[in-house]
Amino acid sequence: MSNYDQLKELVKLAGEASLPAFPDLVKKMAEQNKLLQAIDEHYQCLDQGVNIRPTFGNEMQILYLRDRQTFMFTLFPELLPLAYQVGKVIGAAYIAPRITGNTLEELLKSNVRIAPEHKYGRQEIVWVKENEAVYRTYECADCYGLPNIGLKLCIYESGTAAGAFEVKLGKRVEVEEEKCCANGDPYCEFHIRVFDEPSILGSDTK
Ligand SMILES: [Zn+2]
Repeated sequence: MSNYDQLKELVKLAGEASLPAFPDLVKKMAEQNKLLQAIDEHYQCLDQGVNIRPTFGNEMQILYLRDRQTFMFTLFPELLPLAYQVGKVIGAAYIAPRITGNTLEELLKSNVRIAPEHKYGRQEIVWVKENEAVYRTYECADCYGLPNIGLKLCIYESGTAAGAFEVKLGKRVEVEEEKCCANGDPYCEFHIRVFDEPSILGSDTK
């Protein structure tokens, strides 16, 4: 099957999938899709300081992508739960391999160093227990400076964190954004909950 046909099949599956069927979709993506591999190579370029684009490199000002997602979620907030699941796939595929640790505390400490490296924001752990934690993002690239539009917008951050921790811990993890600059707060705050259930995304070797 060509890469294009594989993608078409995935889009069809995504359209049919209810959330409980989502793990199958993720598994198919991981197994079949060259897209995941190509993006993984891009992340490796980033880690090694190699430019993906020959002229402009890997950085750009944030407004282009941020405007798109802000308008998308403001006009169609029903997409937020889907974006969360997409974030989980991204976190499992690309963030999990870049963090280390066996406990939530170790993994969270390893994870919060990535945000400033990627200029996404400054992250700070508020508290962490065995199966639960709260952390903040200051100067979040997704929402800092926006007015209060009554939405917690940083759904990709919630999703990528959940996906990364879930794969590393081998248990279901959910992350909820409880404060957001687009909801009138001075920073974003995320609540992590680890459930005593196996991960639907598979697990890492750690
Ligand atoms: Zn936010």
